[in-house]
Amino acid sequence: MTRALLIVAMCLAAVAAAAADGAPPHHDAEITYRAGGRNLQIIDRILIDRGGRIALRVAPWLTISSIKLGGKPISLQDSLQGSGIDLPTDGPHQIDIAMQGIVPALDAKIHGDIHGAVASDAGLYLPGGSGWLADTGDDAMTYRLTVTTKAPYRAIATGWLEGETATSDGHEVTISAKRPMEPPSLFAGPYRVTERRAGNVRLRTYFHADGAALANTYLDQAARFISDYQRDIGVYPYGDFHIVSAPLPVGLGFPSLTYVGRRVLHLPFMRGRSLAHEVLHSWWGNAVGVDYASGNWAEGLTTYMADHALAGDGGAEMRLGWLRDFAALPENRNTSVRTFVTKTHRATQVIGYGKVAMIFHMLRAEVGDVAFRRAIAAFYKSHTFGTAGWRDIEAAFTKASERDLGWFFAQWLDRPGAPRLELLTAGFKEGRVRFRLRQTTPVYTIKVPVVIDTADGARRFAVTMTETEQEFSLELDAAPSRLRIDPGFEVFRRLLPSESPPILRDVALAANPVAAVVGGDTPFRAAAAELMQRLTDAAPQLLPAGSLPGDGAPALLIGVDTDMRRLAKQLGLRPPPRRKGTACAWADRLPSGQPVYAVAARDTNALKALFRGLPHYGRRSYVVFKGSRAIGKGMWPIKINPLERKWSIHESN
Ligand SMILES: [Zn+2]
Repeated sequence: MTRALLIVAMCLAAVAAAAADGAPPHHDAEITYRAGGRNLQIIDRILIDRGGRIALRVAPWLTISSIKLGGKPISLQDSLQGSGIDLPTDGPHQIDIAMQGIVPALDAKIHGDIHGAVASDAGLYLPGGSGWLADTGDDAMTYRLTVTTKAPYRAIATGWLEGETATSDGHEVTISAKRPMEPPSLFAGPYRVTERRAGNVRLRTYFHADGAALANTYLDQAARFISDYQRDIGVYPYGDFHIVSAPLPVGLGFPSLTYVGRRVLHLPFMRGRSLAHEVLHSWWGNAVGVDYASGNWAEGLTTYMADHALAGDGGAEMRLGWLRDFAALPENRNTSVRTFVTKTHRATQVIGYGKVAMIFHMLRAEVGDVAFRRAIAAFYKSHTFGTAGWRDIEAAFTKASERDLGWFFAQWLDRPGAPRLELLTAGFKEGRVRFRLRQTTPVYTIKVPVVIDTADGARRFAVTMTETEQEFSLELDAAPSRLRIDPGFEVFRRLLPSESPPILRDVALAANPVAAVVGGDTPFRAAAAELMQRLTDAAPQLLPAGSLPGDGAPALLIGVDTDMRRLAKQLGLRPPPRRKGTACAWADRLPSGQPVYAVAARDTNALKALFRGLPHYGRRSYVVFKGSRAIGKGMWPIKINPLERKWSIHESN
């Protein structure tokens, strides 16, 4: 298992959907689960305060044994799956549905479909909205669930944990939502439950036996993150936070809990940044839901306030990673931030996570730390248990900073793309450093950090660009040795080609890649074809045997060691990384500038061993594998930084 798994897994910050006109339906459900046969029995009592035809959908694996309306049995024909039933005009109405079924078995090969119910001996997963409660077509509901499980199974659901009692052979637990929430998700498994209180919040881990030793570490970390975010944002919106071990390789955020693959739990990054990220989704995405019609701000804000805040070096390397990802994104796949809704493929992730996080970073630089915190706290306070959009964020920051920020939000949210910065000239004379910057059109208003190194240490400045070309003059108290433009990657900009070494994503994200297999027998070529699908967003067009990539399309080349080495030489590409393994991949550009993703493997098995791991190294220039394990990875060095100017100590020009 690699870090990659979590990246593959979707982060489902669920929508706290606003109630439609009138009160949303209330579900009072009794659930009995027998793990051995994956047998689920549900009595779902729905109170609904409207009349007319209502949809009534249940999951296809459930069988309805009876339906009563107002206590009187009605014909099942009136309530065929998906068709719904007719209610008299005046409410409220009570519908009682008894149903049962065998939960679909958890297939070992789950490929990203995390929307359906699954169960195995290791656990039960009933995601909200999958029809395990009767779906009346409402996005929001209030509910009370009473779940009975037999030992060693324990159950938990999204919502407020109301009570728990031991039964003769197991547990009964009651979970409720008194305010409208998204449909509940329910989890059960052979869990050991460990509890801790952090202020008013009850923290729990529901871990399998193999993870039980990690419980205290996770509770410590969750307590720390919750207290940090309560201080920075506002009161934690739920009564509990649970960390639930999943038999599936996922990392999902839900209101009041996070569901994490049992093997992933053992990886150090999970209890750090990833846990912080999921905890913070309680505020962003759950308590304050996303008004999806106007774009998803929650992923980027969560990434900024959790992942970025915990990164070392003030986050510079993380920001560089985001800019590199963006540089790898072809212009025609560039969309405006307002059109980012959810992470559907790698390209939208670059915008919705990286660019949005950078926007919050620039916003903080623009308004200052104090106004930033004030705005974040006010935004949370006014939208808790509601939904909010970019317009609400703009309003909160405008008020907190007492400034008109319309220009800022318009240039970063409505325009696709980013400016590119160039350092045209630079000189030092009579105690002043003068330099000329150029930006591409359309012109942005950008605050550009400038660092000048002197014998007495670094001097930091910020200059504001509002035109295509501008000259700046900064007074210095010591002779400069080096001028650096935005060395910490604080501005969301398109990196210059020589500023960013080629990375594997340059081809992986391309809209129209071509591919070729060099050498190898039939099984090798079949494995190469499978790998191609896994490495690229768009299916590559396979070049005819023997032909080479020409100018134009980005190319993915896969071959046997010796053949690839020969081909690299022939095309003028750098040779594969020096470190010896069973396979390697490296990025380069042809002399024409076209990106190339090269993969060399010793044999078919070595190639197949890359299937799972290699797709997750897109941010690297190269990676070397021994079997399925990456034993070396890194970036090609940059020779000359175009946004730097160095002076020997006596020089001035
Ligand atoms: Zn997320």
